[in-house]
Amino acid sequence: MTIEYITLKPSGDKMPLIGFGCAKIEPDATAEVIYNAIKTGYRLFDGGSNYYNEKEVGDGIRKAIADGLVEREELFVISKLWNTHHGKDHVRLALEKSLQDLGLDYVDMFLCHFPIALEHVPIETKYPAGWCVPGKTQVTRARAPMHECWAAMEACVDAGLARNIGVSNFNVQMLMDLLSYCRIQPSLLQVELHPYLQQRILVDWVQRQGIAVTAYSSFGPASFAAGGLKHAKSVQSLFDNPTIKDIAAKYNTSPAQVALRWSLERNVGVVPKSLSVERMKNNLEALNWKMDEEDVQAINQLDMGLRFNDPIIKGWDLPIFY
Ligand code: NAD
Repeated sequence: MTIEYITLKPSGDKMPLIGFGCAKIEPDATAEVIYNAIKTGYRLFDGGSNYYNEKEVGDGIRKAIADGLVEREELFVISKLWNTHHGKDHVRLALEKSLQDLGLDYVDMFLCHFPIALEHVPIETKYPAGWCVPGKTQVTRARAPMHECWAAMEACVDAGLARNIGVSNFNVQMLMDLLSYCRIQPSLLQVELHPYLQQRILVDWVQRQGIAVTAYSSFGPASFAAGGLKHAKSVQSLFDNPTIKDIAAKYNTSPAQVALRWSLERNVGVVPKSLSVERMKNNLEALNWKMDEEDVQAINQLDMGLRFNDPIIKGWDLPIFY
């Protein structure tokens, strides 16, 4: 299995186009799932402190290295800075905690998880902190400007703790501002992206800036419906969508691969998550074929601007996408 790569700027590092999503995996199951994913051929792991399983992700990675399945240098490990640690004195502490949990000396990519600075919660008080300060039921924003947060992330690169830095859930306006003052340009933008939420203008503009793009939740409503989200349950599953199914039949492949391949055709990375080894293998095979332009165009017609991972859907007064 060849893993295709995107070459990142400014480091020149190669980031695998297909990686493995580490969110929504129970801590008890995580180490074995990650080990199996490495065995299956995954080399990129998309984790974060707020996934509540970073230590177990590290356990799986370290066991695979110890068993000789892979070397550290072959892996591309992502962690994410949570919203409660945007303060200039908190960023490095957050990354050091993630590295300690992962049992690694550096991450390949450190992403700012959301363009949202929330009141700081010390690691000793609650970790991961989640959205609210302990004892409160609503979010409280912090006066932690992004230019200070980004400078602290740049300092993590200088210190050798992160090889690359990037952002997640940012829009064009936020990136334009960031690009006006950064010393190290973000290497990557990770956003929700699937046939029902295509974000074409965002993706094209970001790629023109030399910033790589990774899609998360490539299977659209699937993981959110599984989590009980009402408007994800009421929309047709991508796996049952007739356009996706017809294209899957044409190439004798699965609807899941069609959803992934559609992103890969735009040179957009993907990080599907599955607990089953069969599905892990199936998803990785999206690398091994090409989709005709007419099929890309047919999927382009499915855009509904339908977003599932939005803080306001969780009930937080944080309408960042508006
Ligand atoms: P996803 O879109 O990868 O969908 C996962 C669901 O699809 C699971 O229910 C799984 O059982 C099912 N599935 C997987 N492979 C399948 C196959 N071949 N056939 C049929 N069903 C299949 O899930 P997701 O967790 O929303 O997104 C993936 C990753 O994206 C996360 O694990 C995380 O790493 C990342 N993510 C990042 C953010 C962010 O804010 N940056 C937010 C959400 C997710």
